[in-house]
Amino acid sequence: MQKIILTKPFEQDWIRMFTHLANLFFEQSKIVVDPIEEGLPIDISVEKDVEGFLRGNAVLKIDDNVYTATFTEPETSDGSETENRQLKRIYSHVFLDVLEQYTGMQQSWGILTGIRPTKLYHKYRQMGHDRETVKQLLMDKHRISEEKSELLETIERVQLGAIPDLHEIKDEVSIYIGIPFCPTKCAYCTFPAYAIHRKNGRVESFLDGLHEEIREIGKWLTARDIKITTIYFGGGTPTSIEADEMDALYQTMYDSFPHMKEVREVTVEAGRPDTITPKKIDVLKKWGIDRISVNPQSYTDETLKAIGRHHSVQETIDKFWLSRNMGMKNINMDLIIGLPNEGLEEFQHSLDETEKMQPESLTVHTLSFKRASEMTRNKNKYKVADRKTVEQMMQLGENWTKQNGYVPYYLYRQKNILGNLENVGYAKPGEESLYNIIIMEEVQTIIGVGCGASSKFMEPATGKITQFQNPKDPAAYILTFEEYIDKKIEHLERIFPETVIAD
Ligand code: SF4
Repeated sequence: MQKIILTKPFEQDWIRMFTHLANLFFEQSKIVVDPIEEGLPIDISVEKDVEGFLRGNAVLKIDDNVYTATFTEPETSDGSETENRQLKRIYSHVFLDVLEQYTGMQQSWGILTGIRPTKLYHKYRQMGHDRETVKQLLMDKHRISEEKSELLETIERVQLGAIPDLHEIKDEVSIYIGIPFCPTKCAYCTFPAYAIHRKNGRVESFLDGLHEEIREIGKWLTARDIKITTIYFGGGTPTSIEADEMDALYQTMYDSFPHMKEVREVTVEAGRPDTITPKKIDVLKKWGIDRISVNPQSYTDETLKAIGRHHSVQETIDKFWLSRNMGMKNINMDLIIGLPNEGLEEFQHSLDETEKMQPESLTVHTLSFKRASEMTRNKNKYKVADRKTVEQMMQLGENWTKQNGYVPYYLYRQKNILGNLENVGYAKPGEESLYNIIIMEEVQTIIGVGCGASSKFMEPATGKITQFQNPKDPAAYILTFEEYIDKKIEHLERIFPETVIAD
């Protein structure tokens, strides 16, 4: 645990901000305001001068070394940022600067600790800045590296190519349908995923509830004539239920949702290859669904075993080709960098195998130790690559995608992610997942139905988002789904009020 001693008190949310930044450098850190404690003392302040400039200063004195940082900018007067926000940004700037000097580590995402750096890029563009100015703003104001700023620019261009009306789809919605079952639970998983046992009738009761949710939400959308942009089946593994159950579910979806012919994309995650069968692919084809995800994560059998996947590498390859040969035209695959006992060699092998299949899109995740996962609870059991190796693996992935004609189209970051890196979705041009773009950029309401499904209700006029979570556990879902339907409809009524036409 690294203690950082600040020489003056700050409110709790500021302390949280400093802690997030310090955690970019140290595995665990604690910010204390007590000069008697031992730790890294940082004297930090922001002053305002007579000409309206704000000047941040930070000094870190340790042993015989002194590290100093200053950052000056005019006080914001154009309303683009509140005073508090600007102050936080300036404090972050100098705090990060002295820690970079002290540790010798460069943070390529600068002072950004949030999940969605691309949202910031879009925000600046929406404010009317050209791309060159945005790049400069990201580098100067947020300390983002040139390379990452350019990555954000590429992603923004690709996203607008895939959804030209990205900022005008506020009056439509997307739907997320959560099916919480998997053949077994993976060690790194924190999704609502329960090993599928068919004996106790829970699957059937859950599906009854899900049909009802789809019907009721569909009824409301139809009455208001609200269009659906995309639909995404996730979980869990939506293909872990039987083929006839999938068929019935898609039937209800088509019967209930309005304007199904105009929905731009329907995706079904078939992440676990051990759930894919010819019968299930036939059902997907019957309903015109041809975007699926088949997720290898790794092409090393020992790794799959260590993370509890319970399927073999060969099974992933076989199921990919089965899906492809039966007509699945848009297949996504996921790889994870930094899985236990994996280094450059294993990751290169995964890329070599992927090359033979050429899926339409590839998401490269970096392993993150999420609080609730088995892997985090038993962290000592798992040996993972160091920061430098993880960075090199990321670079391998980046080079490989370039050589194979993929472009980055969405990106997000997570807490406790190895090497403080990011997850990047790559796609062949024109094959991007629209849902992934929409959820990352938070450009419209997403209605979540099913277990653990999270809804985000976005007010079209202000962009303000209210989150709402369905129960994670199927047993709780079965008992309460009706209440949750009512609450979601209340939110929808609030954000899409009925237009009153005057006589
Ligand atoms: S397949 Fe995905 S959802 Fe299912 S247990 Fe593994 S990581 Fe979790």
